[in-house]
Amino acid sequence: MSEDAIKETRLLKQHLRSLVDQARQNEEKMRRFQAIELQLISAANLMELIETILYDYREAFHLDALTLMLVDPANEFERILKDDNIDPADHPDMLFSTTREEIQFLSNLSMFPTLGHYKKRVHTSLFPNTQPRPETIAILPLVRHGKVIGCMNLGSYQTDRFENGSATDFLERIAAIVAISLENTLNSERLKRTGLTDPLTRINNRRFFDQRLGEEVSRAHRNAEPLSCLFFDVDHFKRINDNYGHQAGDQVLAEVASLIAIQMRTSDVLSRYGGEEFSALLSNTEVGKAMEIAERIRINIQEHPFKLDKHTEINITLSIGVATLIPDGDQSGLKTYASWLVGYADRALLHAKETGRNQVKCAGIIHASTEQQFQGVVLPNMKLESSH
Ligand code: GH3
Ligand code: MG
Ligand code: MG
Repeated sequence: MSEDAIKETRLLKQHLRSLVDQARQNEEKMRRFQAIELQLISAANLMELIETILYDYREAFHLDALTLMLVDPANEFERILKDDNIDPADHPDMLFSTTREEIQFLSNLSMFPTLGHYKKRVHTSLFPNTQPRPETIAILPLVRHGKVIGCMNLGSYQTDRFENGSATDFLERIAAIVAISLENTLNSERLKRTGLTDPLTRINNRRFFDQRLGEEVSRAHRNAEPLSCLFFDVDHFKRINDNYGHQAGDQVLAEVASLIAIQMRTSDVLSRYGGEEFSALLSNTEVGKAMEIAERIRINIQEHPFKLDKHTEINITLSIGVATLIPDGDQSGLKTYASWLVGYADRALLHAKETGRNQVKCAGIIHASTEQQFQGVVLPNMKLESSH
C-alpha cells in the first residue's frame, strides 16, 4: 500500500472511532434522558416532581446550576407544599413568580428555548442564589395550552455549553415533558384537596382535621412528644351577620382564618372545625407554649381592624380553649386519647365563653399513663370521662 493510502486509512479509522464514540455518548445521553423522563412522568406528587427536576436532572446532565420558576399568582404551589410540611426555604432553586412584573417577564419569553451568555441585567432573577454566576444559560419555557406556566433555567460555567444557534431538540423535549407533568401533578394535588379544603377560608376542613388528628396522636405517641390542641370560637359572631350581613360575616371569617394561620408553624394543622369555630393541632408543643401561642393569637385578633367597606371598620374577639396530651399510654388507646384531647380543648373553650369571652382557658395536661388513666386538670363543672 502506498504511503498516502496508509495515511488515508489511518485518518478514516480515526474518524470512524470518533463517530462510534459520539454515537456511544449520544446513546448514553439518551439512556439518562429516558430514565429522567420516566421519573418525571411517574412522580407521585408535586414535590417529587420538583425534586426530580432540581436534583436528579441536574446531576444526570452535570449542570452547574438549575432553577425552576413557576407562575404562582395565588400562592397555590406554596400552599400545596406547606400542606405537605415542605419549607420552600429548603429548596432555594425553586422559585415562584407571584408579582405582576415577574409574571409579565415570563409571559414575554419566547415559546422556544433561549440559549446564550448570562446577562446580569436580564437574568439575575432566574439565578438569584447561584454563586458565582453562570457563564452560559438555557432558558426553557414551560408551555401549556399556549401559555407560559414557568421556566426551567440551566446554567453552566463553560463558555460554550449553551450557545445561541445550537440544536435544542433535547431541551424542547424535556421542557414539554416537565410542563405536562407539572400540569398533571397540579391537577391531582387539586383533586386531593377539594374534599379537604374549606372553600370560604381556604384552610383545611373538618374532614381533614379528623384525618390528621389520628395521625398526629399516633406520631406524638411514637416520638414521646406532647401534642396540644387549640379550639377557637369567634365571640358574638351572630351579631356581625345580623348587623352587617352574611357577606361581611364571610369576609370576617376568611380574615380570621388567615390571621390565625400566620401564627402557625408549617407542621401545625389548622382547620375550620365548623361555622365560626377553628381548631389547631400543635405537634411537639407543651402546654405553656400552647397557651402562649393562643394568647398571641387572641391579642392579634382583638387588635386587628376588620375593614368591611370604605367606611366601616369593626373589632372582634376570640375565645380559645387549650388542652395538651402526653400520649405515654398503651398504643391501643390512641383513639381514646384523640377524643380526650379534642373533648377537653372544647370544654376549655366553653369555660372561656361562660366566664366572660375574649380569653384563653386551659384544660391542662392529659396524661395517658400506661394504666390509661386520665390525670387532667379539671375545669369547674367538668365531669371526667374515661372510656376505661
Ligand atoms: P358566642 O360568643 O357564644 O360564640 O356567640 P356567637 O354569636 O358567635 O355564636 P352562635 O353559635 O350563636 O352563632 C354563630 C353564628 O355563626 C350563627 C351562624 O349563622 C354563623 N355562621 C356559621 N357559619 C357561617 C358562615 O359560613 N358564614 C357566615 N356569614 N356566618 C356563619
Ligand atoms: Mg360557635
Ligand atoms: Mg361564636
